[in-house]
Amino acid sequence: MAKKDNTHENHCSFCGRSESEVEMLIGGNGHYICDACATQAGIMVGLQPATGTPQKSNNSDWKSKPIPTPKEIMAHLDQYVIGQEAAKKVLSVAVYNHYKRLRYNTEHDVNNNVEIEKTNIVIVGETGTGKTLLARTIARILNVPFCIADATTLTEAGYVGDDVENVLVRLLQAANYDVEAAQRGIVFIDEIDKIARKSDNPSITRDVSGEGVQQALLKLLEGAVVNVPPEGGRKHPEQKMIQVDTRNILFISGGAFDGIERDIASRLKSNVIGFGGTKTREEIDRHNMLRYILPMDLKKFGLIPELVGRFPMLTHLDPLDRDALRRILTEPKNALVKQYQELFMMDGVTLEFDSEALDAVVDRAIEFHLGARGLRSIMELVMTDLMFSLPEREKGTSLTITKEMVVERFAEK
Ligand code: ADP
Repeated sequence: MAKKDNTHENHCSFCGRSESEVEMLIGGNGHYICDACATQAGIMVGLQPATGTPQKSNNSDWKSKPIPTPKEIMAHLDQYVIGQEAAKKVLSVAVYNHYKRLRYNTEHDVNNNVEIEKTNIVIVGETGTGKTLLARTIARILNVPFCIADATTLTEAGYVGDDVENVLVRLLQAANYDVEAAQRGIVFIDEIDKIARKSDNPSITRDVSGEGVQQALLKLLEGAVVNVPPEGGRKHPEQKMIQVDTRNILFISGGAFDGIERDIASRLKSNVIGFGGTKTREEIDRHNMLRYILPMDLKKFGLIPELVGRFPMLTHLDPLDRDALRRILTEPKNALVKQYQELFMMDGVTLEFDSEALDAVVDRAIEFHLGARGLRSIMELVMTDLMFSLPEREKGTSLTITKEMVVERFAEK
């Protein structure tokens, strides 16, 4: 195609594009500026809103939509998360109450009525037992903004790393910079245990990633109005801030709290021995110490009491046993087995798994201490060769994965 001759047209003095290549060309004194460059210039001198500028809230239908009941939320979680009944129940109630208090607090004058306070939650569970999965699954049914933030990236203001306010940047992004919507949102703070105080004596050295961050986080949890740098990163004096009121934001945090079982065990032990013990030695489930967790254990682990106090609800995840791993392979809505079956079906092949084959996959996950996270890599190893030659298989046929196929695949390793 012949190149368009635009030499006789006026051109933007900044980007060089011609009149026909832009939406609008503004002229003055023999020079021109196009709409795109004018917008850019507007941003540079602070006249024009850049990305990350607060938007006016146009989302009022959240008030009219029916609130999902705890049972409905639980049923939704059941479709994706195996077991973890205690945590699922706590989350279902927390989300339900979050909606209710949002409505109540907007419909009632909090100065003259009871103000319903929020119940932030801590979920304690070994890695790979479903903390993030729970958070993500909850997010699917919410019609309030939701984000996941990682506590490990946070440092005390003035040190290398993210300021705590960055947690809210993510929420603003999830809310498309609608500040009002973000102020109703839910934040999941992952790996909260990683900001625990490293030593019992906070005065030895400055604890950059520990207590200082906890103090900073407290500000968000206490319901303060926080200045958030819209683009994230460090705060700069010249950067325009967005003010976010955190009073109605629900915080859910999760952590593995490695080693906390020891503290729980010793607390239980002294309770059993001393007066007032509530459990006999035999009654204690030694494989699941986390179910006895109390706020005092989080303090012992290194969370400051003020922070622990801001998370009134504490729940745990159970370790995943053989039965749970086996169910995870087949039962969730997006279970691995279902995913492979879909992939094979797209090539016209019906895929089946022998029950013993699935047992063998679970055996490997346990043997390698990989937990639920390892199930995927084990399945990939078993399936790769078959998927490599899948398009050449005859359509309309079926294929069954047997225990022998799984065992052989690992014998080669
Ligand atoms: P963490 O507790 O470390 O946040 P994740 O939620 O990331 O663990 O779990 C890792 C993966 O393991 C998930 O993506 C999911 O596939 C699987 N998984 C873990 N726990 C469960 C569970 N209870 N039910 C179903 N799948 C699970």
